[in-house]
Amino acid sequence: EAVVNRIAAGEIIHRPANALKELIENSLDAGADLIKITLKEGGLKLLQIQDNGCGVRPSDLPLLCERFATSKLRDFSDLSKMTTFGFRGEALASISFVSASMSILTKTRNEALAYKAFYSAGEMVPAKPGQSSDPKACAGTDGTTIAAQDLFFNVPQRRRALKSAAEEYNRALDVAAKYALHYGARGVGFVCKKSGSNAADLSTPASPNTKTLDTIRLLHGNAVARELVHLKISQTVSLSFSVEGWISGANWSTKRTTFLCFINDRLVDCPALKRSFESLYSALLPKGGHPWIYVSLKIDPDKVDVNVHPTKREVHFLDEEDIIERICSEAQTVLAGANT
Ligand code: ADP
Ligand code: MG
Repeated sequence: EAVVNRIAAGEIIHRPANALKELIENSLDAGADLIKITLKEGGLKLLQIQDNGCGVRPSDLPLLCERFATSKLRDFSDLSKMTTFGFRGEALASISFVSASMSILTKTRNEALAYKAFYSAGEMVPAKPGQSSDPKACAGTDGTTIAAQDLFFNVPQRRRALKSAAEEYNRALDVAAKYALHYGARGVGFVCKKSGSNAADLSTPASPNTKTLDTIRLLHGNAVARELVHLKISQTVSLSFSVEGWISGANWSTKRTTFLCFINDRLVDCPALKRSFESLYSALLPKGGHPWIYVSLKIDPDKVDVNVHPTKREVHFLDEEDIIERICSEAQTVLAGANT
């Protein structure tokens, strides 16, 4: 059973960057507005995330890393909705299966003290052999710090499939930067740095007054930010979705397409939308030029099919073709307007 679980976990958690995505989503679900990430060897040696969210009650700690343990499903109908992130309590369990050691330090507002617990292969374990596995009370601030060490130490084929630590770091940083961009205007700040380094590679403020374009400028520079045009379609009685985003104008291009897509505040893959944008821009840009696109869609959660498969981040939704066509036609209009 342990081997089966470990294989299942390795399928869900491919690399540090996708473990980090799950942990970020948990912190956001916990209502954090400051998320600090520290990585060592691209997250392979250490993947740590600290948030100031609601914390975990001490009584919930023993079962936290059981597969399918989740505090987020209120009733069965929730399964078809996308109101919270995560695929039903598999992330923490999976991370504990593929790491040599995982610890959680957490404190809720109602608790006077923080508690620290260690996990391995889905179970709470002692910090050191021979000790009790009970969570230890200690001093700490409100929120949760999760640290996973030696990722994939027990999944050699996974480890071999990974790129260099530098490449893994870049992928993790990229995930953090995408969340920082989307959540900047939602008041959530992010910090990401290498362990032992004083300087952060990413640092955005936690402020309710931040505008998306400010965050883009901070993350991608003014050279990119000033080339962007605003895309917006508001929800109406007859329109069941809304879109807001920033997309590059027709007089500017980059070497590679940048495509950030959030649906209901989740970072997702939406290849069909990406393809449509690419063909729209290929008719506008000189050969070899690519667009920069950030779009945030809001769709009735009932109409979104998110958990096609836990390993897939590809999302499908009802009336997909119509919605994509509507978005691209609006994009065409604003791009034409921006050109004149
Ligand atoms: P899911 O997100 O689908 O519920 P996870 O395995 O990602 O499953 O997390 C399991 C549970 O652990 C969550 O439901 C939540 O109760 C708790 N949890 C995880 N991370 C945090 C966090 N950063 N802050 C507060 N609670 C957390
Ligand atoms: Mg989760």
